[in-house]
Amino acid sequence: MPFHGRTVDAWVLGRAATVPEGTLLSVKRVRSPVRFFDERILELLRWVSERYIAPLATVIGRSHPPRVVGEESADDVGVAPRGQPPPNATVRGPSPPPLLDRYRQPSILEPGTTWLRPLPDEEASVCTAAIRACLAAGRRAIQLVPEADPMPGTARAVLETFGERAVSFLGGDARARYRTWLDIRSGRYDVVVATRPGVFAPLQDLGLIWISREVHPGHREDRAPYYHVRDVAMARARLDRAACVLASLSPSVETAEAARTGAIAASRPVRSAEREAAPLVETTPPEGEDRSARLASLVKQARSAALLVTRRGYGVARVCRACGEPARCARCRGPIIVERGAATCRVCRAAGACANCGQGSFGVERGGAERVAQWAGHVASVPVRLDPGDGMARLGETGILVGTAATVKDVGPVRLDLVAILDPDRALARPGVHAAEQSLSTWMEAAAWAGPRSAGGRVLVQTRQAGHPAIQALVRWDPLPYLLSEATRRSEAGFPAGHPVYRITGGADLAARLRSGGAPTVLSTSAEKGTLCLVAVPPDRLGAFRREVLRLVAEGAIDRVEAEPQL
Ligand SMILES: [Zn+2]
Ligand SMILES: [Zn+2]
Repeated sequence: MPFHGRTVDAWVLGRAATVPEGTLLSVKRVRSPVRFFDERILELLRWVSERYIAPLATVIGRSHPPRVVGEESADDVGVAPRGQPPPNATVRGPSPPPLLDRYRQPSILEPGTTWLRPLPDEEASVCTAAIRACLAAGRRAIQLVPEADPMPGTARAVLETFGERAVSFLGGDARARYRTWLDIRSGRYDVVVATRPGVFAPLQDLGLIWISREVHPGHREDRAPYYHVRDVAMARARLDRAACVLASLSPSVETAEAARTGAIAASRPVRSAEREAAPLVETTPPEGEDRSARLASLVKQARSAALLVTRRGYGVARVCRACGEPARCARCRGPIIVERGAATCRVCRAAGACANCGQGSFGVERGGAERVAQWAGHVASVPVRLDPGDGMARLGETGILVGTAATVKDVGPVRLDLVAILDPDRALARPGVHAAEQSLSTWMEAAAWAGPRSAGGRVLVQTRQAGHPAIQALVRWDPLPYLLSEATRRSEAGFPAGHPVYRITGGADLAARLRSGGAPTVLSTSAEKGTLCLVAVPPDRLGAFRREVLRLVAEGAIDRVEAEPQL
């Protein structure tokens, strides 16, 4: 399109109801005959644009994979048709067990959002049962997982169950991704299994969006428009009159609070069933290097185990051996860790050099996954492995795996003799609004690998704060009391759960102008060039706030807006 003397790429949104005044210009050239959104999806994209204060063009651009022109054919032209499933597609396996009965709220397939807390190991079966019911009602389903590699256990279960009617939209090269997206659009599939871009999958007759591990940070897009899959899925479910299920052993504070107020439904098995399925969790205080006598004796007996620490590597450099100053990275002043025999900056990954004298020899405080693995290798009677990055996927029937939170992935049903959480106190002390809820969720997912107490596995938590509500949530296998207390704490800090948060950078008077724009919470600090503001906005004032922000952007008073920053 010609625009202010230049030719720019543009999206055709639809027909105008009236011809606006002024000059009408012709489209110069059609870039693609494919229609990338219909009116339904456009409504969702407009919602995303408003909620995350991002240009609609950016949102549209992120809602589908980049075009690969060679994949487009005559069949892909025009408005997505109401497709037919392939003629011989059948759902594999026997008819579903009445699993949904276990979840007291039978309405998870009704329009609206439900938090669902599966029993450990049961998410895949509840999810496939729900999708089966959705398909039986003549509608289609999207399952969203936070990670693609290795393929999550629930994703695998859904793809295996629904065979040719389902498609994996997880990873893949650009050509394959675009081809898959075109095929979804053509109506070829009834079930789409995807990571976060799949929330925009061009599926007609959507009946269900299922979000696995809804607390996982992988559900948040980390570039503009910085959307969160949970919010977008809930909005899409509203627009499509579909059901949205947020599945987690331990939910986010937002979800816990929304379930408390009744804004969303909650579905979980009766408490007695939850207790029966819960693992046996014991606590013990840690001794040196995040170990304890109790841990040593359990590791010695275990045929299979997962040991989780917060830190990677072998230890933390504390002091420079050459000059005696505290160890700091010469490039960025970040902390230096020792990993695979080398000192490295944890922040900028530069080779460890003292910020004071430039030397690279440090006194090291040992502790971290590598050190624990070394120690466990001496104690254990089975092989010990350090997680190379693909988590439990590499753990066989026997053996001990040592890793960090990144080790805890959805690997399907796993049974271990021992799951040990070595330094939860360090995880709880981490700054960040979402740190605690993410830690608790990770611990519960890992603890589930020990199986129900009747199975003989156990969970050891090394903590000096056995009474901490987050630790108690794990011991009692009930996350809600802790998460609701977190919700209160967040409200008191001015960032109530469910209130959109923005990080905005701009000129010197930015904070005052944002406050006058209707945001009650504005925290500001002086940044390199101007002001950085953290803003929480009550949902009912979002429209006015957005207009104010756009006005300030137009005036040049705002440089950058990031929605839902990782605080
Ligand atoms: Zn550094
Ligand atoms: Zn030095």
